[in-house]
Amino acid sequence: MTPMALVRCKSCGTTLATGCMPTATCGLLLLPALLLAAILPLLLWSRLRWYALLLPVPVFFATVLAIHVIPYTIEYLCVLPRPCPTCRARRWSFPFHPGLRPLTSTPSPG
Ligand SMILES: [Zn+2]
Repeated sequence: MTPMALVRCKSCGTTLATGCMPTATCGLLLLPALLLAAILPLLLWSRLRWYALLLPVPVFFATVLAIHVIPYTIEYLCVLPRPCPTCRARRWSFPFHPGLRPLTSTPSPG
C-alpha cells in the first residue's frame, strides 16, 4: 500500500501515487468531521441552547470541505500538468484511494 492518494490516467488507466494526501479510507477521513459535529453542540449548549442542535449538519459539511475536498482538489490541480508516463496524455482522474482492496498494478481498460 502506498502512503499517498492515487490518480488514474483516463486514457490508458495507469495509476500513479502522487501528492501528500493519505490513502485512508473515506470513513477515516470523515471521522474528524463526525467527531467535531457531535462535540460542538455539546460545548455550545450553554450559549445557544436549542439552536445548538442546528450545528451538526453545517459543521460536518464545512469540516469535510476543509480536510477532504479542498486538499484533494489542490492535489488534483497539481497533477494536471503532469504527462502520463505511459501514454503522455494529461487526463487524470480526481485523486482517490484504493480502499480496502489490494492495489493492482495492471491498468484497467477504459
Ligand atoms: Zn496514460
